[in-house]
Amino acid sequence: MSSPSHRCGGCGALLESVTELDREPNPTGRSWSCTYCGTSVPSVVGEKLSHRRDGSATDRRS
Ligand SMILES: [Zn+2]
Repeated sequence: MSSPSHRCGGCGALLESVTELDREPNPTGRSWSCTYCGTSVPSVVGEKLSHRRDGSATDRRS
């Protein structure tokens, strides 16, 4: 599985983690934007990155 990432359409930064996104609460859910330039990021991308844990594999529950 490839890790989720998103190339910002504004500044070209490769956004690979939620720390590179700004999250703004709004009445209809959450909206996301590039932390570097403020260009909005598709919510599906923001959600994917936000669900990603630190480290890599989430399937190590022995
Ligand atoms: Zn950007």
